[in-house]
Amino acid sequence: MIVRYDWQEAEIREIYNKPLLELVYQAASVHRQFHNPKQIQVCKLISIKTGACPEDCGYCAQSLRYKTEVKPQALLEKETVINIAKLAKANGVSRVCMGAAWREVRDNSQFESVLDMVKDVTSMGLEVCCTLGMLTENQAKRLEDAGLYAYNHNLDTSRDYYSTIITTRTYDDRLNTINNVRQTNVTVCSGGILGLGETVEDRISMLHTLSTLNPHPESVPINILSQVKGTPLEHQPDVPFWDIVRMIATARTIMPTSDVRLSAGRARLSKVEQAFCFMAGANSIFSSDDGHMLTVTTPCPGYDSDQELFNLLGLQTRAPFVKKNNTMPQVTVG
Ligand code: SAM
Ligand code: SF4
Repeated sequence: MIVRYDWQEAEIREIYNKPLLELVYQAASVHRQFHNPKQIQVCKLISIKTGACPEDCGYCAQSLRYKTEVKPQALLEKETVINIAKLAKANGVSRVCMGAAWREVRDNSQFESVLDMVKDVTSMGLEVCCTLGMLTENQAKRLEDAGLYAYNHNLDTSRDYYSTIITTRTYDDRLNTINNVRQTNVTVCSGGILGLGETVEDRISMLHTLSTLNPHPESVPINILSQVKGTPLEHQPDVPFWDIVRMIATARTIMPTSDVRLSAGRARLSKVEQAFCFMAGANSIFSSDDGHMLTVTTPCPGYDSDQELFNLLGLQTRAPFVKKNNTMPQVTVG
């Protein structure tokens, strides 16, 4: 299997629509060529600044525009973040993701505080990811200097469907921030959400955009919509489990070296369903402690129950900064 950046939508559609077990078998085989299948990256998301976001993402509990149960919270103190990171590390977490409900980063004292947090948590031997909204190249460089390992900026869905979900920014705004991050050695985390009302064509289009970025995002989160009360998408039906498997297996197949993260919505899946997602090539999850919340409103399995699941499945947590066991030559085409 080679790493390609010239995937055509027709090829991705064919992979996505393969007979399901064939698709999973192919993805599992690709997975084993590039990753240790026994290892799962465990991440912890910390909402360092919560709520009152000016954007109108139709799924989000933190948007100022919707009446949700989220209570806005100011930027956390660094000590608080460090204590959460310490507990996370003790529970096998290798990556701490700091999320701020901002439209974009401003060059102000809050950004200075975030840079400080990045520095200190990195010095604890953890990978740090930030998801702070839109970034300039200079801000990306400052995050790189602070030791940032990854920057999350999800495309969420296809270009065509994007404006149905978000109107306060454009798809190119997202791609522009990803490109700014790419001017540094900070890795990129970008994926999407299933269950927004998108079509299979939208999913294929989003995968096409992601898999024709060169390099591929080093992490690809696959979120399952958690319907949040008060948001425009609160009455969306649950995504069928087999759609989640197809998305994970297709992402694995076309972006073989990336970490595919089974992200929001995992709490809804049974142990068997999660095991099947790992078989299909998912090799990263979010875990948590505090009442098991992923984001401020999205439930997330806890450290203990995840450890039980790993013991049951013969999995182990992946150490930070581990390079992927790329046993196959990476040939880039296109
Ligand atoms: N404010 C940052 C931004 O918009 O890029 C990060 C927001 S959030 C911490 C990171 C990602 O979680 C979002 O980009 C979205 O893909 C996902 N997410 C947020 N709310 C969700 C929900 N209700 N269900 C599923 N995924 C969700
Ligand atoms: Fe704001 Fe991010 Fe939520 Fe969108 S997803 S409303 S940008 S916090």
